[in-house]
Parts: sequence; structure tokens; C-alpha cells
Amino acid sequence: MFKPKLMHNLLAPLIAANTVSADLQANDMSNHNGLEILANQLERLQFDCHILPVDEGRGKWNLIAHRAGTASNRHGLLFSGHIDTVAADESLWSHNPFTLRSHSDLFFGLGVTDMKGFFAVLVSILQNLEMQNKLPITIVATADEETTMAGARALAAEMFSQPALAILGEPTRMRPVLSHKGYLAYQLRLHSTGGHSSFPDANKNCINAVTSVNQALINKASQWKSQIRHPEFSVPFPTINLGALHAGDSVNKICSHLTLNFDVRPTPGLSSEQIFTELNQAIKQSLKGYKVHYELNDLYLPVTSFASSATDDRKDVIQQHCSCHFAHENYVTEAGFFERLGIPTIVLGPGSIEQAHQVNEFVSWEQLTLAHNIYAKLIHQWCY
Ligand SMILES: [Zn+2]
Repeated sequence: MFKPKLMHNLLAPLIAANTVSADLQANDMSNHNGLEILANQLERLQFDCHILPVDEGRGKWNLIAHRAGTASNRHGLLFSGHIDTVAADESLWSHNPFTLRSHSDLFFGLGVTDMKGFFAVLVSILQNLEMQNKLPITIVATADEETTMAGARALAAEMFSQPALAILGEPTRMRPVLSHKGYLAYQLRLHSTGGHSSFPDANKNCINAVTSVNQALINKASQWKSQIRHPEFSVPFPTINLGALHAGDSVNKICSHLTLNFDVRPTPGLSSEQIFTELNQAIKQSLKGYKVHYELNDLYLPVTSFASSATDDRKDVIQQHCSCHFAHENYVTEAGFFERLGIPTIVLGPGSIEQAHQVNEFVSWEQLTLAHNIYAKLIHQWCY
């Protein structure tokens, strides 16, 4: 039986483990403690657990927990989530974010919805099922999803026994998500020899030059908008957003250096390599005639877009249990990394993205119960 007290017992130690991922080094924590707690829970259920290094210097690891099946068919189910959380501003929380609290059918704590609750639900299901599954069950907990996605990037196909389907448990309110856009962030640097403002030279001036670059990027976005259509998304084409511009240092100098940060949110099918090539061409062309040099670099490592390769029969199984339509989201997840390994993936998890990364983060008992029921039926039907 799935009871709030059982949920509390499984979830409280995971919440108590500080697994914050942060760009700010002072806030960035090892995730090993959180993974050990989860591995201990799964080892008691006869899972073979491996905690693999992602970045040992920073104390970042992935957990791959596997329980083989009794049948010769290896195409079981894989469940994956991230064990890290964003940093919490404790002064804004109404209680200690590392202490699980429950109140009026809601569970509060840092990471309850994004996404430690997901792991506790899985463990509670497996505690109630026999240990002899026919098809393999794999559970993956990754590092650094909230920052670099280094954990998902470190996964390799050889680590898995060709699962038939991966369920990524990011909060979707248990609506199955079949695709999302990618995320690419760039920094463009312009520089020139500059000079005294009493001899202004528009062709050497990085502020003048960037107006041409901006127009080229706006034109590129318009071109994508007219040529690429993905009606399943609320913004149904790839976008470019010019985000931050820093230029020059003095009013009486020709501006000789400038940085422009911008992001691209590609729809599935537009690769990061193709985007980089197209942006480079557009920028190069726009700077013709200027005595200005440029460099275009990734600001972060690219996060690939995601389009599920799950076949119709697998989608039917999911839809039958969820009894709701498939969705397509604007936020990014690790799903594209599993697809790259050849593992058909669907994003389906308890809680709402609106509660993720929030002060007093919570997940409802209703969502956890829904996840429990849907995952339990899925595991039972597929792996037993
Ligand atoms: Zn998440």
C-alpha cells in the first residue's frame, strides 16, 4: 500500500542530503551522499548499483541501478531522473529546505518535485512488487542536470542493456511529453584596434558593427520562422533572443571591444552543428566592410532538442495508463541525451514545473499517488 508515512520515510533522507548544483562554487555540493541513500534503498531490493564518476574533483557522480530479468528478452524499462537540485535561498523559505515537511496533503522540501519525489515513488512501487521481474528494470540518477547536464552527457550506450523505453521523471503533472526544444547559448566577441574619438571611424567601431550583426541575427530568426514549422509547440519555430550586450569603456574612444550574449531555442531536427554554421555565416557576412574581428563561442554546452522515437505500440501503452494527450514543452530536459544513445524516451513525472526552483517547493500527494499508480501499472505490464 502506498501511504503518506511510507513516502515520508523514503523521501526524507533524500531531501536531507544536500545535492545542490550551482555555478557559484561556494554553493556547489557533491551529490554522492544522495546517491548512496538511493543506492542503499535499491540494493535492499536486489538492484545491482554502480556509482560512476562524472567529475570526481567536484564530487559529481551518476548512479546506475539495474535488476536483470528472468527472461531472455533484455528490452526492459529504464527510469531516469536527476538527484541534484538548484540552490535554495534559505532566508526566504518558511522552514529548513533540507527537512521534509508535510501539510494538507502537500510535501515541502528542496527537490521534492524536481525531482527526488520521483525516486521515492519508484522505490515504494518496487518494495511492493516481487523481486523476480521477467524483463530488466534500470534506474538512473544523474549529476548536474541543473547546471551543465554533465551527468547525462557522461552516459554511454554500453552502460545499458538496450531498454525498450526510458521514462524521464521530470515534473509534467503526469502528462507524457514527446518533444521539447533544445537550448544553445552563445557569446559573440567583437574587437578592433579602436582609436581617439576625434578621428571617429565607423568601420572600426564595434557598436556600429554590432548593429549590422543584430540585423543579421534578426533576419536569421525570421528565415527560420518562415521555413521551419513545428505546430506542436506554442512557439512553433526556432527562436533567437538577444540577451545581453556590453560594449566599450569610454565616451571619447572608438569602441574597440564588445560582447553580445544570445540564445537559440531550436526545434527538433535543427542540430547544434548546423546552427553554429548558419550563425557563423550570417555574422561573417554582416561584418563585411568593417575592420572588426569576431569570435563566436558557446556560453554553455548545448542541450539538444528532444523528439521521442518511441514507436506507436509503446506510446499506446503509455497513453492507455495516463489517459491524457501527449504534450510538447518549451523547457529542456535530459531526454535528448537518452535518445542520442538510441533509447526511445518519454518524459513523464509527478508534480508541476511551476513548483520547481521555487521557494517552499512542494509536491502534492495527489500527484505522487497518480505517479505511483501509473508507473506501477507500467512496470507490472512491461516487466512482469
Ligand atoms: Zn529537473
